[in-house]
Amino acid sequence: MAETPGAKVRIAVLREALPGEGRVALVPESVKKLSASAEVMVESGAGVVAGASDADYTAAGAGISKDRNGLLASADVWPVVNRPPAEDFAKLKRGAAIIGFLRPLDEPAALQPLYANGLTAFSMELMPRTTRAQSMDALSSMATLAGYKAVLLAAERLNRLFPLMMTAAGTAPPARVMVLGAGVAGLQAIATSRRLGAVVEAYDVRAAAGEQVRSLGAKFLEVDLGGIATEDSGGYARELTPEALDRGKVLIAEHARTNDVVIATAQVPGKRAPLLITKEAVDGMRPGSIIVDLAGASGGNCALSKPGEAYEYNGVTLMAPLNLAASVPVHASQFYSRNVTAFLGLIVQGGALKFDLGDDIVAASCVALQGANVNPRLGGTAPGK
Ligand code: NAD
Repeated sequence: MAETPGAKVRIAVLREALPGEGRVALVPESVKKLSASAEVMVESGAGVVAGASDADYTAAGAGISKDRNGLLASADVWPVVNRPPAEDFAKLKRGAAIIGFLRPLDEPAALQPLYANGLTAFSMELMPRTTRAQSMDALSSMATLAGYKAVLLAAERLNRLFPLMMTAAGTAPPARVMVLGAGVAGLQAIATSRRLGAVVEAYDVRAAAGEQVRSLGAKFLEVDLGGIATEDSGGYARELTPEALDRGKVLIAEHARTNDVVIATAQVPGKRAPLLITKEAVDGMRPGSIIVDLAGASGGNCALSKPGEAYEYNGVTLMAPLNLAASVPVHASQFYSRNVTAFLGLIVQGGALKFDLGDDIVAASCVALQGANVNPRLGGTAPGK
């Protein structure tokens, strides 16, 4: 887009198409921030579930429209939470940019319409985990909320108390919680369980997680994995060998017997989630116990999980909620909107769009540049390489 004095980038904010999705990509606070360099148009009602009315958007300087297709046709930038339905891509101008959770590693084929329609797209999942990109790290923002909410789900369903309670009628011991995967969601699940008074233990393949687990007052479960590398250069866990995975499974099955709740959050980016809780481990759990599997979207950490469902198996409740962050739409939208706005600061400059692939954050997150796959992680070639 050529830079013209006084010109502004047109940003469209639409109601999310996914059923049950109440989050909105930009909240009024962000619209206000962006108004110096952008004209923001909002679909009427887009923010209602997230606590933002049309009047709030208008007060922040946005325009409101009921014409969804018109908004798409005139947008330069379309920030979204979830990847929109394929048919919406064809409604955008060629060269328009989409930013959101586009699932490029899990579902690369779904990006084809972006290429076919000459669009530019940035994936929030691919923001590098660097200090400079921290304000744009939407995976962490959403994982924090999911970790918190998973514990509340378990506490609500559990047939006993979470905290130690001493009463004239007797003493109830605290609930026991085991957390699998001590990344962003897992650490928040540990912190929330501790705040509710549970006794917590946690397992992760990254040795670095041990210190963080202990600092939250939980016990770190260690397994001898034979000295193999468990972490990649980006700080993420690697996919383990079957032997190493088995050692974890044995420890988990042993500890599952004595815990009331298991919160499973283990993931390996771009791969199926590691299967950590076997059917035999669930068979060994006490009736009334609860498993909340947050890895359902990538296949689940528990062999018996049914993604998106909650059911009982031999008295054990298995839950694998798929979009827990969306169950706290106000704060999820606030955090996500701040992440997106920080990223927009990199690509909206002087009222114009500028895609500088020399910037490591822009390059890492770009999955399409005017219809071209420029991302080596997706089999593309970076320009000039
Ligand atoms: P994630 O969602 O990919 O995985 C969740 C957890 O599962 C991770 O801790 C991982 O080690 C663990 N895991 C994977 N395979 C496992 C297995 N077989 N058994 C047990 N545990 C397994 O990761 P995440 O939560 O997004 O974050 C991963 C890392 O990135 C952490 O070190 C986190 O602190 C770091 N991080 C850094 C920044 C930053 O520096 N800006 C931001 C966010 C996260």
